[in-house]
Order: sequence, then C-alpha cells, then structure tokens
Amino acid sequence: MKNVIVTGGAGYIGSHACKALAAAGFNPVTFDNISTGWEEAVKFGPLERGDLMDRARIDEVFAQYKPVAVMHFAALSQVGESMAEPGKYWRSNVNGSLNLIEACVAAGVKHFVFSSTCATYGDHDNVMLDEEVQQTPINAYGASKRAIEDMLKDFGAAFGLESVIFRYFNVAGADPDAEVGEFHQPETHLIPLMLDAIDGKRDALTIYGTDYETPDGTCIRDYVHVCDLVDAHVLGLKWLQDGKGSRVFNLGTGSGFSVREVIDQSRIVTNREVPYKEGARRAGDCTKLVSGSTRAEKELGWVPERSKMDQMIADAWRWHQNGHYDK
Ligand code: UDP
Repeated sequence: MKNVIVTGGAGYIGSHACKALAAAGFNPVTFDNISTGWEEAVKFGPLERGDLMDRARIDEVFAQYKPVAVMHFAALSQVGESMAEPGKYWRSNVNGSLNLIEACVAAGVKHFVFSSTCATYGDHDNVMLDEEVQQTPINAYGASKRAIEDMLKDFGAAFGLESVIFRYFNVAGADPDAEVGEFHQPETHLIPLMLDAIDGKRDALTIYGTDYETPDGTCIRDYVHVCDLVDAHVLGLKWLQDGKGSRVFNLGTGSGFSVREVIDQSRIVTNREVPYKEGARRAGDCTKLVSGSTRAEKELGWVPERSKMDQMIADAWRWHQNGHYDK
C-alpha cells in the first residue's frame, strides 16, 4: 500500500482528502495534533498524533510509514486572527512547514502537495488572478503561506523536492455522504456561520462590510466545493508521480459571489430566512478574490463538477443537519 502523509488530516479539507486518497488506492496517514481537528474525522487511514513543531516526531512517523508523498494541509488559517496574532501564524505555519520539508529531504520523500491560498495574491483591482500575478498579501495568513511557497521553491532547487502548490479560493460544502464535513471551533467561515444562524444555533450573521467597491457593497469570493478541491490534490499527486515536476495551480471556478448573494442562495436552498445584520469591515479582508485561471482544468484535467453555489450550500446543509464531531 502506498502511504501518503496527510498533515491536518483531522481537519476540514484534510479529512476529505483522506477519503479521496483512500478511494484512489493510497493509504492516507493523518499527522495531526488535534488542536483544531477532530479525531472522529480520521476515518480512512491511521492517525498519528504529532506536532509539526516536533521534528523528531515527524522523523519517527516517516521512518514508520516510508511515505511516497506528503500532502500538507495543517495550518492556522483564519485571516482575522492572523491580523491580531501575526507571531502565531509566522511561528506555526512557517516553522512547522520548514520542519516538515526538511524531514522530507532527510527521508528522501520527493513529492509534496501543498495547500496555499489566494490570500497570497492580496488586493488587485481589475486584474485576472492567474498564477503569474504578483503575490502581495495583505494579511499575515497570506504572507505566511507565500513564505512556505518560497521555501518549497528553494528546497526544490537545492534537493529536488518536487511540489504541486494549490492556491485555494474559498472552500465550501461537505462530503455528500456526510461522513466528514466542516466543523471549526470557533467557527469563523461564512457558510457554516450562516447555517447556524438559520437554525438558531447562534445569533444573526454579521456581514463584514457593506461599503466595498462591489455592485452590492459586500466582498466577493470564488467558492469551490471541498470534494472537487481534494480531487485536484489526487490529480496533483499523480502529476508528480508521472514526473511532470513542480507546478502551481489556482483552485477556483472563476465565478464570484458576494456575501449578499451567498445569503440569497442559502435562503433558497434551505427555504429558511437568514437572520443577518450589517457590520464593519473585518481587518485583512480583500475586496474581491476570484480565480482568473483554468490551468488546473487544462493541465490536470480537473473538473470542478460539484462547485455550484446551490450544491455547495445543499451539501453543507446536509452535513450541518446530520453530522457533527464531539470533542
Ligand atoms: N464574512 C462575513 N461574515 C462572517 C464571516 C465571513 O461577512 O461572519 C465574509 C468575509 O468578510 C468574506 C467572506 O464572507 O468576504 C468569506 O469569509 P470566510 O471567513 O468564510 O473566508 P475567507 O475569505 O476569509 O477565507
């Protein structure tokens, strides 16, 4: 069995990736400290508890499983928090990734799939965001991810570590079987917060800013279904195994939705009112982040077939109603 180390395999995206890897014939070995993830989300392969700040523990797990590749999802990923506590982001994301990358080199692991983000681009007015756009992040989260991308380029040049870097736009939805789904504590993301507000599990959703230079004044994002997103990772792994070398890909659909449009779609899909109020901007938020690239479709053969807004909300709603993890 081909082992793939999945850091953050107990988290939202990592757990879906484990399911996709298992379906593709790999053994996904979750490496996770369960700080923000859930033990119950590890259903498709073994769980190895460990922290990326602990290099010896990474080496131990590598020696045990002799992985053919690493998929690196583990990260702190909240834009707002990264503005308030930048040190936490630089230390955890950058130092943790450095340990992992050096462990790959030491163990002779040649293939690395990395979760990066469109937040590395920053705010670009009227520019199509393709992979060649200059990366000028406006928050510490994006800056920490850009630093890891740079690290991968340097280690690729020095040691032949080949990487597929995926720059995610906004990930949404859940496994249609509701085996795994999105569950953060605390929750900060738009769609799960909105679903909580709809069924009264929390107070009204606050729209962060209604004075942006967009048609309805709210921020615009490009939402991609988590199942489509992880399918791209399996294609990225095959790309590396086929000897095609390091490459960067945006993962988005090219369609932008404002916060108000997401609220409207949720009202339709759930057939419930969405309680919301209008609030101030959130520090670090870009006005508009929409992918301007079809490289993943063209080169990887990626087909983001579930990434329709109504489908994403319907899958998230099913998970919201049926599945949850208990700490
Ligand atoms: N957002 C909002 N209210 C919330 C959470 C998010 O208006 O309670 C907005 C946020 O400003 C952004 C979009 O929804 O424009 C998506 O935010 P999220 O935190 O889900 O993802 P991010 O874009 O930060 O990765």
